[in-house]
Amino acid sequence: MASEDHYAPDTLCVRAGHHPTAGEKALVAPTVRSTTFLLDDEAYALRAAGRAAEARIYARETNPTVEVVEGRLAALEGAERVLVFASGMAAMHGLLLAALERGDHVVTGREVYGGTRGLLDELMPRLGVVETVVDLGDSTAVEAALRDETKLVLCESISNPTIAVADLPSLAERAHARGALLAVDATFATPIAQRPLALGADVVHHSATKYLGGHSDVVGGALAFRADGALASACWDWRTRAGGCLDPDGAALLDRGLKTLALRMRAHTANAARIASFLDEHPKVERVFYPTLASHPSRPVAERVLALTSGMLSFVVPGGDEAALRLVRRLELVVEAASLGGVESTVSLPFNMSHSHFTAEERLAMGIPPGLVRLSVGIEDADDLIADLGRALDRS
Ligand code: PLP
Repeated sequence: MASEDHYAPDTLCVRAGHHPTAGEKALVAPTVRSTTFLLDDEAYALRAAGRAAEARIYARETNPTVEVVEGRLAALEGAERVLVFASGMAAMHGLLLAALERGDHVVTGREVYGGTRGLLDELMPRLGVVETVVDLGDSTAVEAALRDETKLVLCESISNPTIAVADLPSLAERAHARGALLAVDATFATPIAQRPLALGADVVHHSATKYLGGHSDVVGGALAFRADGALASACWDWRTRAGGCLDPDGAALLDRGLKTLALRMRAHTANAARIASFLDEHPKVERVFYPTLASHPSRPVAERVLALTSGMLSFVVPGGDEAALRLVRRLELVVEAASLGGVESTVSLPFNMSHSHFTAEERLAMGIPPGLVRLSVGIEDADDLIADLGRALDRS
């Protein structure tokens, strides 16, 4: 994508990855559903040379629509290579299986996504990979956790649900000093709010199901690599073996969603910042977690590492989790639903959803107080959303 490097993200969202030509005149990238492609001597030669990833042979390996999305994301992330997967979790499986082997050690944050935590707590130990879970905002704890066997430091650039913002340059420096890689799940940030590779990360992970797709109608995942080297090749191998490649129809939806990513992220952020200020001043709200607020512990880091603060925020209501549930049920416009990053505003509660497998005490130790509500702010009119939240709070 070197030739497109000078374009701004808004341009890359619309134009990178697909270039109509005299031979291929379609302005929109075609959805190629073919599972198989004509073989020729070049394909056989690439395969024989161990370069099957470069030969289009079979759709479990790659397909043209997937390649369009990979090209666009590579341009947006400043990555040498991108692989898209059938889900965020398929991408995370690929990354962990490719990067780690028996005897290796991983350092992760307390708040990583539950599915990722499940892999690290259950699958990886069975393969002889152990982890240390730390508060990644505590540099002394990170330093103490790093060992000679540490191969990977894995963090989320903006965490769920306390919206803690990771100090990527500092984590990259510490990881690299010990010979480990830094992997960043940037699902909440997207390349519009942050390009982790430019801040020192080695690989970026996305649940494309969220903002990248953006319309709550496609499940997908992505890995973006600083270098097109051994790790990227190993991830391609795992994707192919596991059948984890995104299907062409999913890729077409992702292609369409990505075109408006920059526009949407600005709208999500503007709405979220207004709602955060409204909630922060509301007498029936105890606390708001959003990086533009002076009260948010991550604000100084956010100012350094985020171009936009995204559409994710959390707030705490008095009366605990049952009061939070009653509040959510009073909302009319904001929908009670899992997932995030769609154009629709959605709300969910960690106690019965993302963090339901932890006890209330464990959640508190993770910084998640009772009564915490997580809001994925959509792109509806901010006044309508504020009115909906205000009505529900006033009646509580
Ligand atoms: N990472 C984060 C931060 C997520 O929020 C999620 C899903 O909610 C995932 C990874 C997993 O992605 P998927 O549901 O697309 O498999």
